[in-house]
Amino acid sequence: MSSALVWFKRDLRMADHAPLAAAAGCRAALALFIIEPIWLASPECHPRHVAWLLKCLAELQAALAAHGLPLLVRTGEATAVLAALQHEFPFTQLFSHEETGPGWSYERDKAVARWCRVQGVQWQEWPQTGVVRGLQDRRGWAVRWQQRMDAPLVPAPEHFHAPARFAVATTPLHLPMLQDLRVPPAPATPPGGETAAQATLKSFLSSRAMGYRQNISSPMTAESGCSRLSEHLAFGTLSMRTVHQATEAAIDASTSHELTYGLRGFAGRLRWHCHFMQKLEDEPAIEWRNFARTADGLRPGDGSELQPVDRERLQAWCEGRTGFPMVDACMRQLVATGWLNFRMRAMLVSFAAYHLWLHWREPGLFLARQFLDFEPGIHWSQLQMQSGTTGINTLRIYSPAKQAQDQDPRGEYVRRWVPEYGTDAYPQPIVDERTALAAAKEKLYGLRKTADARREAGSIQHQHGSRKSGLPQSGTKARKPRKVDERQGQLF
Ligand SMILES: Cc1cc2nc3c(=O)[nH]c(=O)nc-3n(C[C@H](O)[C@H](O)[C@H](O)COP(=O)(O)OP(=O)(O)OC[C@H]3O[C@@H](n4cnc5c(N)ncnc54)[C@H](O)[C@@H]3O)c2cc1C
Repeated sequence: MSSALVWFKRDLRMADHAPLAAAAGCRAALALFIIEPIWLASPECHPRHVAWLLKCLAELQAALAAHGLPLLVRTGEATAVLAALQHEFPFTQLFSHEETGPGWSYERDKAVARWCRVQGVQWQEWPQTGVVRGLQDRRGWAVRWQQRMDAPLVPAPEHFHAPARFAVATTPLHLPMLQDLRVPPAPATPPGGETAAQATLKSFLSSRAMGYRQNISSPMTAESGCSRLSEHLAFGTLSMRTVHQATEAAIDASTSHELTYGLRGFAGRLRWHCHFMQKLEDEPAIEWRNFARTADGLRPGDGSELQPVDRERLQAWCEGRTGFPMVDACMRQLVATGWLNFRMRAMLVSFAAYHLWLHWREPGLFLARQFLDFEPGIHWSQLQMQSGTTGINTLRIYSPAKQAQDQDPRGEYVRRWVPEYGTDAYPQPIVDERTALAAAKEKLYGLRKTADARREAGSIQHQHGSRKSGLPQSGTKARKPRKVDERQGQLF
């Protein structure tokens, strides 16, 4: 019987947690979360992420303690923290979930793997989403996703054997505060942790999913009409499998066509979550460079310095003062709350990419900091998709005026977030829309027509494109009650 260290990363829960279950069977077990300076200093990290993480950790620490497992929260570079802990608790096994994260987390995992080899520690990782490590071919991916998601949930262990010196009752466990980490004060964040996650899931499946497909497009109805589970999935306070299985059960139990229809729309998006993450897993460089290399250098900031005029445009976009009221309202909501619905996220990126002709990386980093649910695989794939650099998707340019007309016809949303709109205090549009879009379309459509771009599209489609799965749709009873916009987050 071995001694195991459970390394929590983006899996801050007790339920459906394979590494925890494995640790429960060990002679001695301890749990660890590492707050990594490289994460705190990364351009994607915002105080709201740290504040929310600490909320989730506080609940997890208490929950684990109730079952006899101390959760240590240490700050430092991962291998240094592990090495220091080895002296206090000579673990022979390291258990964790797989992670599909930014480049720095990939490098850190390689360093930890090396450290484990040298120390003779066996590191075992379990998948927790539908992402497949070392995937050679996308064929059969959807079937594997389904198999993983349908596998039985892992029950939360009842009891662990903590090493005596870490016994919960005698060792006060330290949880740092924001100021200990030198993180500035954070804006308000929603309730964190597994309890809040379960409550959000329950309220969505039982009632809020009614009218889901009609409610997700307008930023006003989306606030409560979307599931609002994204930060829980990103930080792992819920497992994807738990959400999938609860959704399928709700579909089977539903007696309302409207509810079933909403739930089915939602179930499909859970597949997208993993589909997009798989792209980063398969090609980590998409965090920095275009899927379509033929698009390299197309915009300023892609291998060249941003000119002062581009910097000013970027700044105005980040601050919600572009003179396009729907764009500004969305940006201000996002900065204030840390969340925005899909369509409005896509519109913000489309505006930066086409109207302002900015490369996606800097706008993407700004958005990553704002999104409490920042999930690198989804984020960078979507940034590129909405900027027209995947090489294979239909170019989709959102008109802010049309979005305002469709999603906020009475102007309530704009008035709420841009109260000075219509007064002299509100800026003039920073670009002439017609001229800017004509120039953007000429460049992008011109590129798409070249032989090189067409050739490249074939290989991108082969590596990253979704395949028809032949799987039955989720649930058995759904009927489509009315025609709604199905194009959101279209797969490529
Ligand atoms: C530019 C851009 C960046 C984005 N960055 C992120 C990100 O960092 N993290 C993130 O979780 N989502 C991201 N999305 C996808 C989507 O906007 C959010 O998942 C959604 O708004 C979260 O709210 P919700 O949980 O209420 O969503 P719901 O509509 O209730 O969807 C349920 C879940 O399905 C998944 N999902 C929904 N839409 C998509 C999609 N288009 N692609 C992949 N998965 C999807 C998410 O896990 C989401 O939580 C991004 C979209 C765009 C256009």
